[in-house]
Amino acid sequence: MSNISHSLQDFEQAQKLLPGGVNSPVRAFKSVGGTPRFFARAKGAYVWDVDNNQYIDYVGSWGPMILGHAHPDVVKGVQDTAELGMSFGAPCELEIDLARMVIDMVPSIDVVRFVNSGTEATMSALRLARGYTRRDKFIKFDGGYHGHADGFLVKAGSGAATFGEPDSAGVPADYAKLTLTAPFNDIESVKRLFAENKGEIACIIVEPVPGNTGVMLLNDNGFLQQLRDICDLEGALLIFDEVMCGFRVAAGGAQQRFGIMPDLTCLGKIIGGGLPVGAYGGREDIMRKISPDGPVYQAGTLSGNPLAMRAGIETLSRLQKPGFYEALETKTTRLVEGLLAGCKAAGVPAVANQVGAMFTVFFTELDAVTCCSDVSKHCDLAFFGRFFNAMLDEGIYLAPSQYEAAFMSAAHTDADIDNTIAAAGRALAKLTA
Ligand SMILES: *Cc1c(COP(=O)(O)O)cnc(C)c1O
Repeated sequence: MSNISHSLQDFEQAQKLLPGGVNSPVRAFKSVGGTPRFFARAKGAYVWDVDNNQYIDYVGSWGPMILGHAHPDVVKGVQDTAELGMSFGAPCELEIDLARMVIDMVPSIDVVRFVNSGTEATMSALRLARGYTRRDKFIKFDGGYHGHADGFLVKAGSGAATFGEPDSAGVPADYAKLTLTAPFNDIESVKRLFAENKGEIACIIVEPVPGNTGVMLLNDNGFLQQLRDICDLEGALLIFDEVMCGFRVAAGGAQQRFGIMPDLTCLGKIIGGGLPVGAYGGREDIMRKISPDGPVYQAGTLSGNPLAMRAGIETLSRLQKPGFYEALETKTTRLVEGLLAGCKAAGVPAVANQVGAMFTVFFTELDAVTCCSDVSKHCDLAFFGRFFNAMLDEGIYLAPSQYEAAFMSAAHTDADIDNTIAAAGRALAKLTA
């Protein structure tokens, strides 16, 4: 086992000063056990912890680092921009540049508003949908994560479409009642909710590639098209939460990959290239309802600051290189196939879901993992925890939960992938010995 004494010391200190020792819960390793590694630096596909252990990183700050860590052009751009002032609280030209880029890349976006996180993007898009339609209720899917705003912290009772119960203390039950939930891929449940709440549903919000339950695949019944159709029929808006899959599964996100246009799109993660940026955008007539053009209020002291805009510009401009996504996907497929072969060789039942450069390997006897209840009911979460820690010892950094996606970056080499597959083989052999 590697020396992690400085991470141990840091975690002890941090726990005294920060809830759980972290500023975002999953980093605390609660669901996998063990000690969170404190990172000191990162470059390309690698991160180094405070004990100088090196890891091949498949978290990439939960998605943003699609070019790899500390890409020289992104770093240089941010440094140059910082010299000129980090935030003005006034308009700057870099906002125009990034807006133009986002509008060019994401097919359904005519007008965009920048914010500082994915949470702000989804929260604001929901307010806009409610303001535009003058309706209060909305539909989300079981296990769909849309940031931590009150209305989204609602999950359904076991499988059945139902009224929301808050998932978190502090969310008023009366408010959570406005959140309706349905199982992913289940259009009948969605139809039932519209029938039961005639003229009251403002929007459906969906991760078109669900990533926050581990990656899930769309069924082949054209689920997104069915959502598009029912929204049109019922006068509700369709919101794609592409905070994770935007700029990840294609330059234009899931909407481009699957050819379904939402009314509003939420973006985050990659759009800031590692700095805090989110955005929501969409149809012009809807977006003009936002203050100061319209009555839906939304603001931000640091929104559109030049530093974050520059990191986004430098990142997005490098995604448009011909073949960028094909190369990323080919590498990802090779890794996924290697990991599955390793599981098979070790006699560990597993399935993988992959869309483009994001994937999850699930430890399960099921033939397919199609929704979050498959994960909670049929995946071996304890084995995942042991596998995760064995991979850490092998110098591979995966997301510390079975309910998460792994991300490939442009900086990962074929050798990194071979080394990861070999490491997984050793880890699985150790765990099944
Ligand atoms: C990460 C994520 C969010 C929240 O973004 P933050 O920047 O963490 O607030 C929202 N929706 C999806 C789909 C995400 O993956």
